[in-house]
Amino acid sequence: MAEPRKILLGEDELPSAWFNIVPSMPTKPDPYLHPQTREPVGPDALAPLFPMALIGQEVSTDEWVDIPGPVLDTYRLWRPTPLIRALDLERALGTPARIYYKYEGGSPAGSHKPNTAVPQAFYNKQEGISRLSTETGAGQWGSALAFACARFELECKVYMVRASYDGKPYRRSIMETWGASVIPSPSPETNAGRAVLDQDADSPGSLGIAISEAVEDAATREDTHYSLGSVLNHVLLHQTVIGLELKAQLEQVGVEPDVLVACVGGGSNFGGFAFPLLAEKLAGRRTTRVVAVEPTAAPTLTEGRFEYDLGDQAGMTPLMPMYTLGADFIPAPIHAGGLRYHGDSPLVSLLRKEDHIEAVAYPQSKIFEAAVQFARTEGILPAPEPAHAIRAVIDEALRCKEEGSAETIVFNLCGHGHFDLKAYEDYLSGNLLDV
Ligand SMILES: *Cc1c(COP(=O)(O)O)cnc(C)c1O
Repeated sequence: MAEPRKILLGEDELPSAWFNIVPSMPTKPDPYLHPQTREPVGPDALAPLFPMALIGQEVSTDEWVDIPGPVLDTYRLWRPTPLIRALDLERALGTPARIYYKYEGGSPAGSHKPNTAVPQAFYNKQEGISRLSTETGAGQWGSALAFACARFELECKVYMVRASYDGKPYRRSIMETWGASVIPSPSPETNAGRAVLDQDADSPGSLGIAISEAVEDAATREDTHYSLGSVLNHVLLHQTVIGLELKAQLEQVGVEPDVLVACVGGGSNFGGFAFPLLAEKLAGRRTTRVVAVEPTAAPTLTEGRFEYDLGDQAGMTPLMPMYTLGADFIPAPIHAGGLRYHGDSPLVSLLRKEDHIEAVAYPQSKIFEAAVQFARTEGILPAPEPAHAIRAVIDEALRCKEEGSAETIVFNLCGHGHFDLKAYEDYLSGNLLDV
């Protein structure tokens, strides 16, 4: 039989533990610092915001962390996810390269984000919390957390960046269907929101502002914790369920990847997808190139500085050692809302700083051209964020064509674009701007 189009795992092959890359890293990440004292923040400082289980995972040096049973039960609704050979894209490009993608768009929220929303809701519920607050940019994280809160019967409050709140009403509807309450950010409900509105009543908002509001909400309420959908170590840890499945799937068909590609906003789908294989590269057991793709509108890894910076705009979060464009940087309103963040995962940043991974940036006109080519060949309509990865994959495949090299390129298709049709409409009608 010919090689299968879809490489599938059985439910019994779902990973039972997440993979922590820290023990494999040649240099260990520096601690988070208190924004005023610049002393390392201890667990006590984070306890008003996060359950102890997640604080423990944030600083864990164990290589494996068991996935709790109720989390596995929920994962089974859509996991394991397929690894698919992009044969028609290969043919259209006329490339000798083999292209595969791991498809995370089949989750209830349509992206990889439930992989961490579910355990975050679970651990909070287990520690007696009844309400979670969070921010959302494009709406994907808010949707994922709303879904997870519905599963574990938690209240969910979402501060949604104003520009997306106005531009993506159906994202709000899906969150409200799962029972969340959604408010545009900046909002008049928090000090952080009021401070911005005083300056600019029509502020389009930003992820940094919305994070400040959600953190303030959680810090000022006994029953509430805060939940973050990317950047932090425990989030990337949960996402490694993607890379662990990928590794098993590649082994199943005896395929050795030459290049791994994923888009980077805060780094969670990239880290989750790449870390299990990257650890083997760090150990000298493979030579795989690992490529992070970001928008030129928020070129954190390609043009930012590596330094301690805040995770939010108002200074509610610890200082983190990462590539950053500055905590008050407000990226242009590109359609890939999930990539509009000034900072990046400290783990991904350190790996980039030490040249274990590569980074490349593209303007949005180039990424939609790739998204449309993908949709017309492979069928799936990608979200604007993974379209960045697709752009880089197509360029790598065209390089292979020029060089006549039959490399294997694997990328993470971390979400579908069914809530992003305004972006496609703009592109198809010639109204998409490079900002
Ligand atoms: C949130 C999101 C991103 C960006 O976040 P990462 O943490 O960098 O993965 C990318 N793609 C999709 C589909 C998202 O929902």
